[in-house]
Amino acid sequence: MTKTTTGDQALIKRINTAIVLEAILREEPLSRAKISEVTGLNKATVSSLVQDLIDNQLVREIGTGVSSGGRKPVMLEFISTAGYSVGIDLGVNYLRGVLTDLRGAVVAERREPLSASDPDDVFNVLRPFIRSLISEAPDSPFGVVGIGVGVPGLVDSSGSVLYAPNMNWREVPLKDALSRTFGIPVLIDNEANVGALGERTFGSGRGVSNMVYVSVGIGIGTGLILQRTLYKGSSGFSGELGHLSVEAHGKPCRCGNRGCWELYASEQALLEQARELGFPGDLDELLAAAEAGDEKVRMLLAGIGEYLGVGIANIVNIFNPDAVIIGNRMSRAQPWIEDAVGKTLEERALNFHLRGVQLLFAELGGRSAVMGAAELSIAAFFDRLKAS
Ligand SMILES: [Zn+2]
Repeated sequence: MTKTTTGDQALIKRINTAIVLEAILREEPLSRAKISEVTGLNKATVSSLVQDLIDNQLVREIGTGVSSGGRKPVMLEFISTAGYSVGIDLGVNYLRGVLTDLRGAVVAERREPLSASDPDDVFNVLRPFIRSLISEAPDSPFGVVGIGVGVPGLVDSSGSVLYAPNMNWREVPLKDALSRTFGIPVLIDNEANVGALGERTFGSGRGVSNMVYVSVGIGIGTGLILQRTLYKGSSGFSGELGHLSVEAHGKPCRCGNRGCWELYASEQALLEQARELGFPGDLDELLAAAEAGDEKVRMLLAGIGEYLGVGIANIVNIFNPDAVIIGNRMSRAQPWIEDAVGKTLEERALNFHLRGVQLLFAELGGRSAVMGAAELSIAAFFDRLKAS
């Protein structure tokens, strides 16, 4: 009997600790009295829980605030340097990594080209890359709390990469491999999902409840944030909107279908169309040509923008989002695609759906995915605090 009671009390304490910590994260700096007011917990309980958080070096006192009558209240804030997170963007031909504090402030950042694609060869590059980021973490009570990784492929719930066509990966147990090496929590997700999380937390999607992040690179992937939550579908495979059918009798796609959106609106589509017109360059060269006023290249980009608008109109009709954010490499073409995307969207999406929707471009540029990967592991740390 006593045991049960103790268990219940411990559970209640954990829940209340999480409530107090969330109140501080959301509204800091704030006083114990204010926490009591916003959480409905009594003052004695709040005082004891705050003391635990202070003892665990997650929260500190930062002097006094304005009095609302009696004694000036002592204000509290979250200590964002209580721990650190590693975020990795594993690209088809590059590695990008950050070490951040628990609020996402970047402490160290690394980038290097990746020429390997065989899983074992990639691990052999990835391990020292992650180790070097971890070695930059200052001493802290919680240390490095986890590693988040965004990958260009389908990821299952056990953190295996089921299929990454551009890397030729099938069923690669990435999470297992990294967990065994580093002995800290590892989270793996699709590149578009972590990109969505990055923009939602630190970029142009801040404060947006319903948003679709469209990652336009070699292919097109999408990350769906619906009612403030990353929507993953029943098996974690949602968001393959790059394979929306936009042409009934269009080109064949590697997915087995034909006329898929990414065949007409991706970086790959742009490069192919440019080659046909006698421009053999890469994206950098094409953007430089557009910048220099090359009308043919500008027309090409506007054509890609039009096709982006076609797919985004479908997305807007389906999800009725507050915002659609265009990210990844093609977001750099914003000056030459934005008008075409916007015009096509207005022509094609349903009127009622258009009223509330914003068309945005990724604010973090090439860092959407890497920052989202860091956030993935920060969010998991807070979830563990609440559950422990
Ligand atoms: Zn397809």
